[in-house]
Amino acid sequence: MPEGDTIFRTARALGRALAGKPITGFHSTFPLLTRFHDDTPLTGQLVESVESRGKWLLIHFSGGGTLATHLLMHGSWHIYRHGECWQQPRANMRIVIENSDYLAVGFRVPVARMHSALSLTRDTKIPRPAIDALSPEFDAEAAARRALAHRDEEIADVLLHQSVLAGVGNVFKSEICFVTAVNPFCKVRALSREQAASLIAAAQKLVAANVLVDSGDAIVTYGGRKRRTTHESDPGASLWVYGRKGEPCRRCGEPIRARLQGPDARITFWCPRCQLMPDGSDVDG
Ligand SMILES: [Zn+2]
Repeated sequence: MPEGDTIFRTARALGRALAGKPITGFHSTFPLLTRFHDDTPLTGQLVESVESRGKWLLIHFSGGGTLATHLLMHGSWHIYRHGECWQQPRANMRIVIENSDYLAVGFRVPVARMHSALSLTRDTKIPRPAIDALSPEFDAEAAARRALAHRDEEIADVLLHQSVLAGVGNVFKSEICFVTAVNPFCKVRALSREQAASLIAAAQKLVAANVLVDSGDAIVTYGGRKRRTTHESDPGASLWVYGRKGEPCRRCGEPIRARLQGPDARITFWCPRCQLMPDGSDVDG
C-alpha cells in the first residue's frame, strides 16, 4: 500500500498538472462519477487544488465538488501529455481528467467518490487535516493523546491506525520505533507521555523528510546515504531497520529481527538490543 508520503507526492504532481486550469474532458468507469458529471459537468470547471489526507487523494473543483480517491494496493495516478503512450492498459483506466496540456489518468483506482464540502467533512473515513502527519494543521499533542488511549495495543500497531495519525505506513512504523528506541511490541500503557510525544514527533519528521521536492520514490530514514542514490535493488539501504532482517544494527551491530505483528500480520523489524521492552526483556525471550 502506498505510504502517506507517496500519496503526498502524487497529490503534488497532480496539482502541478491540473491546478488552475480549465478541465476539457472527464471520463470514468465509476457510474456515480459519470452521473455526477452528467448532472454537474466538470468540463469548464477549474481544478482548484489537489491535496492528500493520509492515504486519500482529494481533487477540489471550482464548482464546489471534491473527488476523493483511495488507491489501496494497486491504484495509481499517472500524468500524460496528449497523445503520449499510457504505461498501463486502457482496461485499467478508471478516471481521466483532461486539460489543454495534460491527462491525469487514475488506473485501477478501487475507491472513488464525489463529495460536496459538507459531505466531505462528514466522511469519517477521510482524515481531517489535524490528523495528517503531513498537514500544516497537524496537531501532534492530540495525536499523542489518541495513541495513548489505545492502552492494550502494541505501539507499532497503533502507529498504523489512521484514526490516530494519518500518513504512517508499514515501513515508517518500524523506522519510527527504532529512532525513538521504543520496542514495537511494547503495550501502549507502558509508554510514558514523553515517549508517546517523541514517537509522534519522529513520525512527523520522517514522513515529512520523505516529501522533500527532490526525494525519489524510495523511503529514506537512514541518513548515512544521499537521498538521490537510493534507487537501488536493496530497499533497506536507506533505512534503519526495515527490510534488514539478520543484518547488523546500524547503531549497535546486533542482528536486526523481523516478525509479523498485529491483527493484519504486518511485518515489523527491530533491533533487540537498541529497543528493549520497558522491563528490560527481549521480545523473543
Ligand atoms: Zn541496535
